[in-house]
Amino acid sequence: MSSQPRKIAAQLVHRVLDQGESLGSLLGPRLASLEDPRQRALAQELTFGTLRWSYRLEALLAQLLQKPLKKKDRDLHALLLVGLYQLLMLEIPAHAAVSETVEVVRQLGKNWAAGMVNGVLRNAQRQSSALSKAVEGDAAARWSHPDWWIERLQQDWPENWQQILEAGNQRPPMVLRVNRLQVERESYLQQLRAAGIEALALPFPDSAIRLVEPVGVDSLPGFRQGLVSVQDGAAQLCASLLDLQPGQRVLDACAAPGGKTGHILELAPQLEHLLAIDVDERRLQKIRENLQRLQLDASLLAVDAGDPQSWWDGKPFDRILLDAPCSASGVVRRHPDIKLLRRPADVCSLAQQQQRLLAALWPLLAPGGMLLYVSCSVFVEENSDNLQVFLDRHADASELPLQAEWGKVMPVGCQLLPGEYGMDGFYFACLIKT
Ligand code: SAM
Repeated sequence: MSSQPRKIAAQLVHRVLDQGESLGSLLGPRLASLEDPRQRALAQELTFGTLRWSYRLEALLAQLLQKPLKKKDRDLHALLLVGLYQLLMLEIPAHAAVSETVEVVRQLGKNWAAGMVNGVLRNAQRQSSALSKAVEGDAAARWSHPDWWIERLQQDWPENWQQILEAGNQRPPMVLRVNRLQVERESYLQQLRAAGIEALALPFPDSAIRLVEPVGVDSLPGFRQGLVSVQDGAAQLCASLLDLQPGQRVLDACAAPGGKTGHILELAPQLEHLLAIDVDERRLQKIRENLQRLQLDASLLAVDAGDPQSWWDGKPFDRILLDAPCSASGVVRRHPDIKLLRRPADVCSLAQQQQRLLAALWPLLAPGGMLLYVSCSVFVEENSDNLQVFLDRHADASELPLQAEWGKVMPVGCQLLPGEYGMDGFYFACLIKT
């Protein structure tokens, strides 16, 4: 029944909007309940698309409802947003979008609302251009981001804020990282072609492949044997910036789910030691699974990177990667629920946490060693400003400017904006201990 993907999408949207739950933990099990892969794809598209455009859809819905629905009917509110997304933003035929959405109303046991939902969706279809005009002056509706977020970007990126917001509303590409210990990129591209999967090599980094259309990982040749991992091109830039050499001792702080841990080992299999830590034991398990699949090995610890006294053996590291917990404002195209879940005050407390981790890890770095700080945020408070504070407080730290041909040079470090080279938004800063 094609009402099923609509029902699942509405339930997921409802839980994000009204219970503040994050989509990451909800999505997998709910999608798994659909057997048909096309229905799974539709449920995923409706969920992501509705959340991506929720600020716009909310403004449009407000025009169409005489008064907001009661708290106990917020499930219908979410369903209406999913209905509007299909009607106004997807090329789903209106009769299917309306009738399947009304069918979900019945399945929810709210027959009394069938006429109302039908009427709202029919009106939306009839009045779509007038509705769009009515919300034109509303920035949150125009860019489908919260007001505070738009204002922060205008402040941080006076010349690029529109580009950043637009990139945040795009569907993200699926990008693979080829495990060069097992296969060369060209040869893997041939394997993809033979499997009927269209793909292109990215201009850089030389491990990256972009799929023309996303596919389930189990369709990827050799995925279970570790030939490739799913990782955006920007995240693939980190490991090579570490300038890894045989015999080095490396710390991957904040490592889960292990995307960069795996890449470090693929690039430098002859390290003396790689320690990957994460405060979240359950997420640490993901590193274990990923390394097992890649047939690679590292030491793993579930500990607080900000409290090294409790776990460090006193031997300095030559390299430290700090992929800091952050607002994730550079990857909203992959996680549209972030726009709804983040609060303005989160940015300041994240910046404090990042500062705490930097300060705690710095003594673990050997003289002459390098700490690479990265975040998937575009807010300068978490990035360049934060690193400047750190440099001001640590006389033995200096910046090693990145010799990269991509990204915007910042007062400290370098920022890749979301959508540049088709990649996620990422910030990078290399610090050297003098
Ligand atoms: N590096 C990972 C990768 O490439 O797959 C992504 C890391 S994610 C951006 C940030 C991680 O920091 C999360 O897994 C989170 O659990 C972890 N984290 C947050 N606070 C931490 C702390 N105090 N100590 C260690 N890990 C922490």
